[in-house]
Amino acid sequence: MYQLKVKSTFSAAHAVRLKNGCMEPLHGHNWKLTVCIASAALDECAMVVDFEELKKLTNDLILNKLDHSDLNAIPAFKGNATCEAVAKWIYDELESPVAKMRDGINLESVTLWEAQDCCVTYSTKNN
Ligand SMILES: [Zn+2]
Repeated sequence: MYQLKVKSTFSAAHAVRLKNGCMEPLHGHNWKLTVCIASAALDECAMVVDFEELKKLTNDLILNKLDHSDLNAIPAFKGNATCEAVAKWIYDELESPVAKMRDGINLESVTLWEAQDCCVTYSTKNN
């Protein structure tokens, strides 16, 4: 199985509701995103896909919506704009378009870094 990853970054603000019910003050992060797709087979060019193709998909479907945004203002994150919620949303947005890139390609995982030392990986795969 091949795993192909592309990394990207976006800037967005959020305020997380904490366990005690308090809201953090609104603050920004330079989020780092890793999208990982998997395929057992390669195409006629010996690629899973062209890196640029996955970068464009991520840019069009994710970065264009999240970059320079207030995540709390996006309906999908009304519950709580946590790194977990954003990572799952990105996964859900990309899952179907990635599967349509070519037969046998699947979205493996999405890893979202909120800070240099804090990240969440979301996947529906059992590994
Ligand atoms: Zn934060």
